[in-house]
Amino acid sequence: MLLLPGFGFAQKRRITTIVLDAGHGGKDPGARGFFSNEKDLTLGIVMRLGKMIEDSLRGVKVVYTRTTDIYPSLPERHQIANRADADLFISVHINATAGRTERVQAGTHTVGKGRRRHTVPVYRTIHHKATETSGTETYVLGLHRSDQKAGAIGEYSDNVTEEPGIMDPNDPQTAIIIAQYTEAFLGRSVSLGTKIENAFMGGGRRSFGVKQKGLEVLAGSAMPGVLVECGFINNPTEEAYMASEVGQQEIAHAILRGIREYKAETER
Ligand SMILES: [Zn+2]
Repeated sequence: MLLLPGFGFAQKRRITTIVLDAGHGGKDPGARGFFSNEKDLTLGIVMRLGKMIEDSLRGVKVVYTRTTDIYPSLPERHQIANRADADLFISVHINATAGRTERVQAGTHTVGKGRRRHTVPVYRTIHHKATETSGTETYVLGLHRSDQKAGAIGEYSDNVTEEPGIMDPNDPQTAIIIAQYTEAFLGRSVSLGTKIENAFMGGGRRSFGVKQKGLEVLAGSAMPGVLVECGFINNPTEEAYMASEVGQQEIAHAILRGIREYKAETER
């Protein structure tokens, strides 16, 4: 991995180019819901958001990392953003919780002979995919305060989404990249993320706030960036919402509001 280009140069003040990154795509479905895949929901939201930006933010150009069901690699997505000399990188994703496994007694079974004959319980394992967890959260590139280790992702398993490119902060080169990014872009990324999460809450969604994580999807782009998790695909209510026209419009609009307020603040 290369060090980020563009350090030490004066930062532009105007927001003129925004990269929209629909998470996953093509061979990579992302998290799976009960009837939908993350890759399709992210694309739907991103295409709506792009149109809203072009319609309402004059002079701002939108660049997409994908507009169809294809899978650009993370380096390809970064290359698109850096070549466009973009001012913001916004990656849209859908959350999922780890499934819950439960062991329940399914009956009894008789074992042994004569006096030793007795019954033992028989168990079976039930996997619960559905969650009642709902809400949004936005990630920025940084180190978790508790020195999050890459291994922490191990808590996710099975059919559950594992975001690509969780960086290992114990790797020296990774540590340098994250430190440089933090120095240059963390403050503005947090500002944008906070405005987006506030817009979600203003629209009645629950918010888990802005969190730092060592995400490669953000590390290669030399500009402030956020990764927005729009809701939980294994919550049946949220899945239906995120797959609906109204839901996608509302989500895109909340992100737009965050961008608009960030732009106003930056250009003041
Ligand atoms: Zn994702």
